[in-house]
Amino acid sequence: MAYDTTTVGHRPVVDLTDRRALESWHPAAPDVVAEARRLKEAALLDFGLTESVVASWIYAKCHHQIPTTAVPTAAVVASGDGSCPLLYNPGFFVRLGLEGVKFVLFHEARHLVHRHLFADPELRADPVFTLAAEVAINHVALVRLGRKELPQLDGRPTGVDPREIHRDYAGDLTAQGLEPLGYDAFVETDMTVFSELKRMRQPPVPTVSCVHLTDPETADGDQPTLDETVSSALVNSLLAARRGHPGAERELLDLMDRTDGTSEHASRVWGRLGAGALRGRTPRTGKVDWWQRWLVDVLASKLREGERLVYPKKRGALLAALGHDPMLSRCGPVREKNLVIAYDTSGSMPDAVVDWLTELVGQIDGVTAHWLSFDGAVMPFHPGEKVYGGGGTSFQAVADYVEGRTTVDGRGFEEIPDAVVMLTDGYAPHITPAEPDKWIWLITPGGNDWPDHHTPPMACHRVTTGDR
Ligand SMILES: [Zn+2]
Repeated sequence: MAYDTTTVGHRPVVDLTDRRALESWHPAAPDVVAEARRLKEAALLDFGLTESVVASWIYAKCHHQIPTTAVPTAAVVASGDGSCPLLYNPGFFVRLGLEGVKFVLFHEARHLVHRHLFADPELRADPVFTLAAEVAINHVALVRLGRKELPQLDGRPTGVDPREIHRDYAGDLTAQGLEPLGYDAFVETDMTVFSELKRMRQPPVPTVSCVHLTDPETADGDQPTLDETVSSALVNSLLAARRGHPGAERELLDLMDRTDGTSEHASRVWGRLGAGALRGRTPRTGKVDWWQRWLVDVLASKLREGERLVYPKKRGALLAALGHDPMLSRCGPVREKNLVIAYDTSGSMPDAVVDWLTELVGQIDGVTAHWLSFDGAVMPFHPGEKVYGGGGTSFQAVADYVEGRTTVDGRGFEEIPDAVVMLTDGYAPHITPAEPDKWIWLITPGGNDWPDHHTPPMACHRVTTGDR
């Protein structure tokens, strides 16, 4: 990010992944730190309420948020230990004020999303792509935050102004006798900005850039950590959208429109996420099926917070009502939801379905997953472990176990499940569980979907395996 031109090109003074070193490096005055922290908290709360559910989730996953003068501006660092600390310079935040802090924090969060969707090392090594990212991100920030201008630092706008870059671009193309795109078409997707800038005879070199772009170590960061953080934030935003959070839905749709189909990798990310569901149609990859959309919906409703504790603050209660719990959720003892996923191993389980479920469930926050395999008997397992099937199939064995009537190796199931997902071909004696409305049946191809017309009926859908 562009917010302090005087330090461009300077390596950070301490290792940005060393928390203790960051905190002890020339600490700012306590009142400056306090004010900066207040501004940061206020900005993140506004994200969660209205402005960016995605950014709110990303920062909810940055458990360490460290005021430090070791960075000139602000950066989210994907460090190798699986954490994503947010570093911010307290004096910089105080000089920016609340509106500027929001812009900068949104910009940083969007960088992570951008890196997640466009991970191609060749693209990222291209300085024009770096500039294109700044243009696209600041364009979105201006629109999303309802701004006319970039944030001001000491009375001057700071950052890459997408409209200025577009003016330079139009001038360059016109001089070459080429037809430039208008501003709206130029910024339509993250990749149009890049491909249009590439048409320039002399694409501008950014005079300013983000901490994580000037520091090779942070720039490369740790892609797996970053991918995990962002994709989890996207899944949770998707669930918030399916629970009826209108802001989340609009933001995700907009993000998809800007990125899906513009690169193979980006399309794959959206495909895996099952987010095509939001559009009511499958994305270009054709990987998302109705049953996936359906499952996200049903899970969202079954895992809905029914009895959420009231926060001391009014705004916190409002957040909870929106079905979204960003920063504040850590303040209260909210009960984790328990999700049971049971695989019928008496038949063959489609790998693609198992993989998709494992990934989806692994990314849902506030949920403890309990994995079971069953044939005639129940066997708990950990995702990734090989499960073996034997003879017979008994749905009743699963019900008996999760309802606490039986044990496995002397241990009973001690939780109360909020939802039970059964992946099975459906061929076994029918059952009526104690709480049928918590049960979700996924029926493999060629299976029997009796739970659909059982009395009482249960949530039930056929899965498709992708070999269509
Ligand atoms: Zn930037």
